[in-house]
Amino acid sequence: MDGSEPLGPPVEVNLDIFAECNLNCYFCIGQRYLVDHREEVGPMRQLPTEYMLRLVDFLADWGVRGLCISGGGEPTLHKGLAKVIRYAASKMDVSVVTNAVKWEEPVVEALPYCRWVALSVDAATRGTYAVVKGRDKFPQVLHNLVRLHLWRAGHSINNRAADLCFKFLILPENQYEIYDACKMAKSLGVQDFHARPADFERPDIKGHRKLELDRDAILQQFERCHEEETEDFHVYTISHKFNADFHVEHQFQQCLASPLVLPLLQDGNGYLCVDRKMEADFRLGSAYPNPESILEWWGSDSHRDLIKSVDIGSCSRCTWSAYQSQAVAIRNDSMSLSFP
Ligand code: SF4
Repeated sequence: MDGSEPLGPPVEVNLDIFAECNLNCYFCIGQRYLVDHREEVGPMRQLPTEYMLRLVDFLADWGVRGLCISGGGEPTLHKGLAKVIRYAASKMDVSVVTNAVKWEEPVVEALPYCRWVALSVDAATRGTYAVVKGRDKFPQVLHNLVRLHLWRAGHSINNRAADLCFKFLILPENQYEIYDACKMAKSLGVQDFHARPADFERPDIKGHRKLELDRDAILQQFERCHEEETEDFHVYTISHKFNADFHVEHQFQQCLASPLVLPLLQDGNGYLCVDRKMEADFRLGSAYPNPESILEWWGSDSHRDLIKSVDIGSCSRCTWSAYQSQAVAIRNDSMSLSFP
């Protein structure tokens, strides 16, 4: 942080490729720039495929280990997604976060080349799905999960096809069907079930507030979900990013972990962190059209100054909260720093 040594590359690049979505989730953390203030994205709403292939070359050479193709926006709406997955998977670990609504055949066939695929389902019933996701697409999503499972099972991909992860963001409307969703995930043949409270306290979400969640009912379902675990089916119940009542809490004072991951967004710019996407004050610099231009600002004085200037109190849930605490522990433990 004093600039005496170069900053290494991020472990992961989080790449948002298309600023459009085919659902309307009321808890979407990208709704500010995807729906309400679309002008924030600017004229380039999707990254050109040819550019993403050059970007992958640069990132692999730089030393980035993981490429997470995610949203803001639904990546499977981008016509070049399958090509980018296959190309990037030959150079680094790749993951995709998708709502599983609209999958063309090339996408289904490319997804198993990922290290993991996160499937944002967030419901166990058609009615709840329509309420929380804003569209009646539940049957279509289940159909696609079966398609992906069958294709993955029928093809050997370097002996290690993608882990499929059924994601469940907990909201008041779905909080009593977590266990049902877990059992459904298991029956669909996915490898992981991942449940955590949604972050609805961000100031840029419409109607943002502390959600009323039935803590005891949720914890009981978490327990039952873990009883479903087998060698081939894993359950992750995430509560450490929140306080005991599942509300936002920060147990750190500095944003030291943000350089672990570099978000690159549809506007061709890099940003400080995945929770402050498309916010002008958190823009690091341009990565478009020349990916090498990242080296002009990554680890620069202005990058370090931005990290130091982060007012933690202005942040909502921090995706990297556990890493933030670990970074402080490493920084303060001079005895063990060189003697782990
Ligand atoms: S949410 Fe705030 S504290 Fe966490 S990485 Fe982002 S800027 Fe840093």
